[in-house]
Amino acid sequence: MAERLTAARVLLPTGLSGPAVVEVEGGWITAVAPAEGAGVLDRTLAPGFVDLQVNGLEDVDVADVEREGWQVLDQRLLAGGVTTWCPTLVTAPLDAYPARLAAIEAAASRPEGAWPRIAGAHLEGPFLGGRPGAHPVHLLRPLDLDWLAALPPIVRLVTLAPELDEAPEAVRLLRERGVVVSLGHTAATADQVARCVDVGATLVTHLFNGMPPLHHRDPGVATAALLDDRLITCVIGDGIHVAPAAVALVLRCKGPGRAALVSDAIAWRSLAHAGTAIVLVDGAARLEDGTLAGSAITLDAAVRTAVAGGVGLADALAAASTTPAAALGLTDRGVIEPGRRADLVALGPDLAVESTWVAGRKVHG
Ligand code: ZN
Repeated sequence: MAERLTAARVLLPTGLSGPAVVEVEGGWITAVAPAEGAGVLDRTLAPGFVDLQVNGLEDVDVADVEREGWQVLDQRLLAGGVTTWCPTLVTAPLDAYPARLAAIEAAASRPEGAWPRIAGAHLEGPFLGGRPGAHPVHLLRPLDLDWLAALPPIVRLVTLAPELDEAPEAVRLLRERGVVVSLGHTAATADQVARCVDVGATLVTHLFNGMPPLHHRDPGVATAALLDDRLITCVIGDGIHVAPAAVALVLRCKGPGRAALVSDAIAWRSLAHAGTAIVLVDGAARLEDGTLAGSAITLDAAVRTAVAGGVGLADALAAASTTPAAALGLTDRGVIEPGRRADLVALGPDLAVESTWVAGRKVHG
């Protein structure tokens, strides 16, 4: 039986529209139509959020998930409106990856249910360059094409640095295997960036963080990320890693469909328990020396940060849903129109998450 979800505002491919009703049946959106009369809820309906970079939340690290840990992550992500995500592994010894990737593969293989879909793992490192940020420098490595070629299919996204030897070869190899390549933690020149984009790199990992600042006499990776229309540029939306006005600058510069909000959330509490000197200051996790190490948000907060910076609500919502879905090549979701998955989030007038649906099933709120 079809379910009818009404909302004063609905994010359609053409922008915010409403009041409207979204019809859902069998897990899919079957119709979108103007709503009439009383009973339309004062809320905004958007495609479920897609977070390309989540290392963990609170006390659950995706690199070390205990049995019930996935359900804890599931609930926290759904409460933040996230319906698809990429568990993200930071730099580690090469022999640590197989078990971690197997655990992510097992979690991703669960049957459809009250949990956000795992689109695949994001490997951020160990092939990083001149701006490692909080990654352990002693574990960074030169590119290893054989290791990359042997990665299991659960790996969906790899962040690497364009200044490494054989970076274009690595990009080409990963693209041939269907892996999305993002450029990050880098001090690359614009030329080095372009050489990787020419062979298929399509994303930039957390613009402004893990790279030299934008300099007017030395246009490097930050300028390339803003100017090259072939790149979708990710930006951390906690309002700390990047100020709200700079988030707005990125979205205006890139235009609709070319900027994605990420949380870069980490399990700061479990890292602290494990002995890493890490503290939460104003909502962002920092190492002892002040180095930013990740956020403590989910993507709903990123939408509010963008709006606070002056981004229109439609663009902010698209940057948290439509654009990251497209960045992963997920053509079955990320847009509210007939034929797409009914992965949806409803936000109240204050942009807090009221309800989340995965494949038409209400799983939060
Ligand atoms: Zn990073």
